[in-house]
Amino acid sequence: MRETPLVLATRSAGKIRELTALCAEAGIAVETLDGLGLAERPEEEAIESFETFEANAEAKARWFAALLPGRTVLAEDSGLEVDALGGAPGVRSKRWAGSAATGVALDAANNAALISALESRDDRAARYRCVAVCVRDAQRWMGSGVVEGVITRAARGAGGFGYDPWFESAELGVTFGEASPEAKARVSHRARAVRAVFSSGGAALRAGLARVE
Ligand code: IMP
Repeated sequence: MRETPLVLATRSAGKIRELTALCAEAGIAVETLDGLGLAERPEEEAIESFETFEANAEAKARWFAALLPGRTVLAEDSGLEVDALGGAPGVRSKRWAGSAATGVALDAANNAALISALESRDDRAARYRCVAVCVRDAQRWMGSGVVEGVITRAARGAGGFGYDPWFESAELGVTFGEASPEAKARVSHRARAVRAVFSSGGAALRAGLARVE
């Protein structure tokens, strides 16, 4: 089988940074959608309209795998679940504030919505959840990961992306905004999901993938 880099099926710069490091840790070379010349299309926003992380992650992986026969595609769906909000924003984390913005403006709108929803709440328990899926033609491997924590009363740190300055990891004792990329990668939902996919895929998954040292 021809060995090719794993395709990262995401448009999020934050996810690309983290997924690239996680794949490097596993010795797997990666390629981005932009790097492959696949410019973003408006219909991509509608791909992840399902009610579970599993269904959304699989839909994203299959969408891009269909455009790239023979290539192995990694997609993930992730989000924040807040107990006091009945598990919201969950699968709607990316567009929770209803903002059509992108990048830091989108993160700021979502964080403002989160903080205002929790203003009078003492129960701050929350978790990030991630489901990662690798697809190559008809084959598919799936893994999931969770990291527990609390939503802080003030933002701390500027690392990571999204809700990270407001999410204090129980295991690290600091927010993901304060944590180094290496510390976040030790415990994060994304790291756990990606490691689970690589481990469940084993030799069959790795057989088609180019390596980095
Ligand atoms: P999606 O997987 O593309 O639907 O987007 C996931 C959304 O969940 C992101 O846009 C963030 O709002 C949030 N999210 C997921 N993982 C993280 C993380 O590691 N840090 C901060 N926010 C995250």
